[in-house]
Amino acid sequence: MVNAAFVSDLQNRVPKTSCPSCGKSHLEFAMRCDVGSTECLFVARCELCHMIFGVDEDSFPAGVLPDGDMQPEHLRCARCKQSLVMVTLSCSATSHSCRYALRCPSCDSH
Ligand SMILES: [Zn+2]
Ligand SMILES: [Zn+2]
Repeated sequence: MVNAAFVSDLQNRVPKTSCPSCGKSHLEFAMRCDVGSTECLFVARCELCHMIFGVDEDSFPAGVLPDGDMQPEHLRCARCKQSLVMVTLSCSATSHSCRYALRCPSCDSH
């Protein structure tokens, strides 16, 4: 279950993600709670074109749990074991959804 603290935490950690619809980096994370529903959806919303993308929680990287145990500072790259990996989101305009991805700044720059 994703909570609000997790969302704001992720908001700070994930670099600005480009909106696949308008191409601008104005995606914001938000909780979307429907009236009458006990479950809140974790979504990415574009400030500019107001497109809403669902975030696939199942794609969240193993070892990074969205329940308060999330400690990305302990997430080291499996390949170089040197760098901290960054959590990024890749969003699709066709499926209106985002998936998590891990990126190693060190390995990626090689
Ligand atoms: Zn947009
Ligand atoms: Zn690496």
